[in-house]
Amino acid sequence: MVHQTTLEKYADANWLELLAASITDADRLAGYLKIDTAAVQTAAEHYPLRINPYFLALISDPDDPTNDPIGRQAVPSIQETRNSPLPPDPSCEQQQSPVANLIHRYPDRVVFMVSDRCAMYCRFCMRKRTVGRAPVVSEATVDQGLAYIKEHKAIQDVILSGGDPLLLTTEYLTHILRQLAEISHVQILRIHTRVPGTLPQRITPRLVAHLAPFQPLYLNIHFNHPGEITPTAAAACNRLADAGIVLGSQTVMLKGVNDNLAVLRTLMRKLARHRVRPYYLHHPDPVRGTDHFRLNCREGLALVNGLQGHISGLCVPHYMIDLPGGGGKRALSPTSVDSSGPDGLMVRNYQDKSYFYPG
Ligand SMILES: *Cc1c(COP(=O)(O)O)cnc(C)c1O
Ligand code: SF4
Repeated sequence: MVHQTTLEKYADANWLELLAASITDADRLAGYLKIDTAAVQTAAEHYPLRINPYFLALISDPDDPTNDPIGRQAVPSIQETRNSPLPPDPSCEQQQSPVANLIHRYPDRVVFMVSDRCAMYCRFCMRKRTVGRAPVVSEATVDQGLAYIKEHKAIQDVILSGGDPLLLTTEYLTHILRQLAEISHVQILRIHTRVPGTLPQRITPRLVAHLAPFQPLYLNIHFNHPGEITPTAAAACNRLADAGIVLGSQTVMLKGVNDNLAVLRTLMRKLARHRVRPYYLHHPDPVRGTDHFRLNCREGLALVNGLQGHISGLCVPHYMIDLPGGGGKRALSPTSVDSSGPDGLMVRNYQDKSYFYPG
């Protein structure tokens, strides 16, 4: 298969060279994939395009990339530019941002955006209003964020996000982590990244050696489809896990990508097998320009119902919605209680059979 050969070719490539070779315009993309060049160009003028050569090689159907589960995530669609009733920032991150690029929604933890660049620009990104566009993150905003965290003693858990924190240089990322580690009330550091799946060459032994001292360090990796967990990506996860970094996953439920039980089961099992514990399965946020990826919560709950009990509990993530208006995340669960009375509950098991539970 031509794709396997291409992937092997990139297995040991230099991540900066791969990033520099990214496709960022429709004309060049048309040299690799069958696309409507004008439509892709229009969409890319609204929201930036970046597909690095490694991720491009994961698209298995170059003749129909927007119906390919990997291609659909990366190739701009004219549907992004259609008139949409959806707001650009439904979770009201902007209002809950006391200093630029830091979101303080829950008292004890913050999201700290330290990068505005990614190894690939996801078409469904909840932050597509900012990510990959005019630079918003600078050393000055990072310093302001660090000062805010230092001043607010209730903050115990700092989530580095973006953009993708792993696109920073190893030196600068380590600098930020060191500053945070010196703040006595900060107990937990987290990094939210898509890089192990979109540019696994970035997970060099050198990067891992620089991250390893910052325990407890949790790395939550964004994976949406089992095809993203290539041998190269799996090796990157294994390097991180070997260094004692605790790996979790975040997956966005997306129409035409993973809104399918077999795909979700395979993905979750594959993650657990590579020591990435499924953490959150996000219902897609109602963000402008992402309408074509959205499914409704009833469909989402039906999918989750097909995970719970059917596959190892270690492979079942929490199904989360982010409440519009800044209410924060909440887990949804399929209903299992049919009725309750003074003597106990009638509960359905994973096969939909009812059982009486006393008390
Ligand atoms: C998701 C999120 C967090 C972290 O939530 P957890 O449920 O602890 O993973 C923190 N702050 C903001 C603003 C978030 O969106
Ligand atoms: S990697 Fe994350 S932040 Fe970057 S474009 Fe994708 S979803 Fe958005």
